[in-house]
Amino acid sequence: MKPRLRPAIAVLALVISGALQAKVPEPRDVPYAPGAITVEVDATNLAQRIMRIKQTIPVAPGKLTLLYPQWLPGNHAPRGPIDKLAGLGFKANGRALAWKRDPGDVYAFHLDIPDGVSSITADYQYLTPTDSAQGRVVMTPSMLNLQWNAVMLYPAGHAASRITFNPSVKYPVGWQAGTALDVAAKGADNTVRYQPVSADILADSPVYAGRYFKQIDLTPAGKRPVRLNVVADDPKYLETKDAHIAQHKALVVQALRLFGSEHYDHYDFLLSLSEQMAGNGLEHQRSSENGQELGYFKDWNAKDGSDDLLPHEMTHSWNGKYRRPADQAVPNLNTPLQDSLLWVYEGQTQYWGNVLAARSGLRPMERSRDTLAMVVATYRDNRPGLAWRSVLDTTNDPIISARRPKPYRNYQLSEDYYSAGQLIWLGADALIRKETGGKKSLDDFARTFFGINDGQWEVPAPYTFDDVVAALDAVHPHDWATYLSDRIEGRVPFADSIESTGWRLVYKDEANAAAKADKRVEGDFTYSLGLSLGKDGKVNDTRWDSPAFNTGIGTGMTVVAVNDAEYRSEVLADAVKAAKGGQAPIRLLVKDFNRYRTVALDYHDGLRYPVLERIPGTPDTLTAIFSARK
Ligand SMILES: [Zn+2]
Repeated sequence: MKPRLRPAIAVLALVISGALQAKVPEPRDVPYAPGAITVEVDATNLAQRIMRIKQTIPVAPGKLTLLYPQWLPGNHAPRGPIDKLAGLGFKANGRALAWKRDPGDVYAFHLDIPDGVSSITADYQYLTPTDSAQGRVVMTPSMLNLQWNAVMLYPAGHAASRITFNPSVKYPVGWQAGTALDVAAKGADNTVRYQPVSADILADSPVYAGRYFKQIDLTPAGKRPVRLNVVADDPKYLETKDAHIAQHKALVVQALRLFGSEHYDHYDFLLSLSEQMAGNGLEHQRSSENGQELGYFKDWNAKDGSDDLLPHEMTHSWNGKYRRPADQAVPNLNTPLQDSLLWVYEGQTQYWGNVLAARSGLRPMERSRDTLAMVVATYRDNRPGLAWRSVLDTTNDPIISARRPKPYRNYQLSEDYYSAGQLIWLGADALIRKETGGKKSLDDFARTFFGINDGQWEVPAPYTFDDVVAALDAVHPHDWATYLSDRIEGRVPFADSIESTGWRLVYKDEANAAAKADKRVEGDFTYSLGLSLGKDGKVNDTRWDSPAFNTGIGTGMTVVAVNDAEYRSEVLADAVKAAKGGQAPIRLLVKDFNRYRTVALDYHDGLRYPVLERIPGTPDTLTAIFSARK
């Protein structure tokens, strides 16, 4: 029951809270008049993983509210690491200045600036995670990842684009750094001062720095500079062969052929190869953060290629950054983002990331097809959650669950706008190609929608659902509003759109080459029993309503034995094969906490792994989509 306040008490309560708490001013499109803010980051304390920050903030007397960035664009969620900000203290004319955190907005700090004060200093630390349980590890003995949003306070009341920062970083001696920021000066103590930038561009311009660093030029002839900045745990992992660089250069060439424009003055891939620093994939307008395995170059296998990480993140310079959903075009980093168009922002980026990986050769044709087979299988046969949630509803997941692990992922769903979006856009591409006899394709949409205003990058160009529909319609007239909304809202299935590319999904008793190369086969009984098992037999996922689920097996249990033999992936695979077409159930001994029990799985359809095969007598559109543009 809710207590009812009598009017007199309600008024009194308002007066009291008003006295204790200033209001956080709304961001307005006016410059921060007192002047540019200096932020100096000391990133040399690698052993204790502490970044020390000093800011000098020009001010005017009166009330001032400083904000720590909360809504991070590439995270699509309120995940600014405020829990790791510590030691906060302000000074005015050398004397301590009191601050108060806003109880209704823990990212806001209120101060009263005395008369006669024109500048204050803020000193604090960013305590980066010392263990992955605390968050992404970003400082190691060999590298660091500085994200400016974690080391900046900025004034409320102004659009982030109207606040100027003078950033500088003191790096460990001998280290080098890659970033989209332009260097203004380098000091003797390895302090690097960067050119002034607005608060929004600063937050969008992270740094990868390392003891072992290599910068590789990927610039296509006569175009704006594109660089690959690599840091690694050990210098031997920085060694590259000409073929690796050729494929990365081809990625840039293919991206430019696709979009026909660039929304940067220069672009920096930031790439870490590490077992110590946590992997990352985060887009920015003029750079991207990419975390890969140590052996990215060293263990490169031309047949297996790489994944779509770099193509995906670079695509975001066009899709997500320059062209940005209207409900994400917010004035500052503390205004809530709405994620309703992530099936374009991420879904079409997932599509182009895969296409560009194939076109550049980073992921060869056959492997690209195998990878797609797994995506198609997922959305045809391993997302029972689509019966209760739409793809559109999953755009809320960054805010709902922040990528925390889930017990029944296939039924709860998790950010499915990425790969479901990929298939919806594949269907759109196939439709355009088919109905125009191959004269037009989704490439034309990419060029006309994302490729506008070559060279512009400082002010994003927002779009709405209707803008997307209109641009598609200009490429090829169709009822695109219905086409898209039917699929994102769950009225029409989309996984079988693969068939309009001349290929279909089938299941075989042997996994495809990509699944084998990724070591995805071990413990993978997703499309047979409905189980995905870890090395030790631990159940990582149980498909809702699958044969395993319906015998009472749940995620988190451990399969200890199969038909009385100790569990190994191979033993279970042999048992599934032996039970094919027979009568006898597969007996699993399952451990749950300290309890053991045997379940009988009445499953007789054998092993099943997804593969794409050609539909005879149809045009092969998929190969056309994946082929390099001339
Ligand atoms: Zn993305």
